[in-house]
Amino acid sequence: MKAIVLTSLRQMALMDVPEPTIEKKTDVLLKIEKVGICGSDVHYYETGRIGEQIVEYPFIIGHECSATVKALGSSVTHVKVGDEVVVDPAAPCHNCDQCVRGRENTCHNVRFLGAPGQGGGCLCAYLVMPEECCFPTNGEITLEQGALCEPLSIGVYAVKEAQLPEGAKVAILGAGPIGLSCLVNVNTKNVRACYMTEKIDARIEGARKGGATWVGNPNKRDVVKEILRLQPLGLDVVLECCGQQEALDQAFDILRPGGHLVIIGTPRAERISFDVDMFKRKELTVRYIRRQNHCVQLAIDLIKNRQVNIDFMITHRFELEHTQDGFDLVAGYRDGVIKAMISV
Ligand SMILES: [Zn+2]
Ligand SMILES: [Zn+2]
Repeated sequence: MKAIVLTSLRQMALMDVPEPTIEKKTDVLLKIEKVGICGSDVHYYETGRIGEQIVEYPFIIGHECSATVKALGSSVTHVKVGDEVVVDPAAPCHNCDQCVRGRENTCHNVRFLGAPGQGGGCLCAYLVMPEECCFPTNGEITLEQGALCEPLSIGVYAVKEAQLPEGAKVAILGAGPIGLSCLVNVNTKNVRACYMTEKIDARIEGARKGGATWVGNPNKRDVVKEILRLQPLGLDVVLECCGQQEALDQAFDILRPGGHLVIIGTPRAERISFDVDMFKRKELTVRYIRRQNHCVQLAIDLIKNRQVNIDFMITHRFELEHTQDGFDLVAGYRDGVIKAMISV
């Protein structure tokens, strides 16, 4: 089958690789349809690693996908051949202490698509996944929307964990796909205002389309001062979606005492820091979000029921053979890209 294979730093090749086969009776053979390029894929492409997860070449990346069911293991009942499905890229073990606690997103033995040491990704024609990772859409959402369900489910989870009070005042720092996924979820709640910051002009436009109350570019204006002028008592919740130290500092500045900082961004630096005095004086709560937990179906339902509109996030489309152009585009934040989508 055709696959896009990472062969070294910033190098990809279209190759012919063996097709996967059904091994367990709970397996499903999928024909991959659409794959979204994620910031984490770009981390692997550009640096060959995320933290301790280091790419061994050759390696197939990609984890945001929709697919069509091609064949079933003998015990599969949730999907049938021909079904369009959203793929949850994480297959937890269901045995470790984290799974037993219902924390499958921090499973010690998780197999995550396109994660070094765990399993190859979905930038290829066919894939075998366990039945539990396949969520049928009944054709009620498009295949592109299906691929967007991965980042959207992270937004669903982050906003759920943020525990917004009624009439919350919220800020989201960073208007990439994850920030925008948080935004559309925040807007399904009873919030008074959602402020957003972003350095790239095209993404500022995306934040407006996603329904932000106010958007500011921290390179051009003092966003802390302006938000505090509008909300002198500070905000209830800040969702950090850009992985920048300066954004974490801004979050501390704009939160009210007792406020919650929810971090979803992945910093390039190995350490982040906080102002101890403010941390203590404001008695802030900081929560880091690891992917998502049980939110894929919720994401599908939000799109299906038209509670969120996420189509505006897809700004670029590529055929599989031009995947590397898509990666270079996303890596360079060029041409107003928010989400680039690959057709397999
Ligand atoms: Zn992703
Ligand atoms: Zn587990």
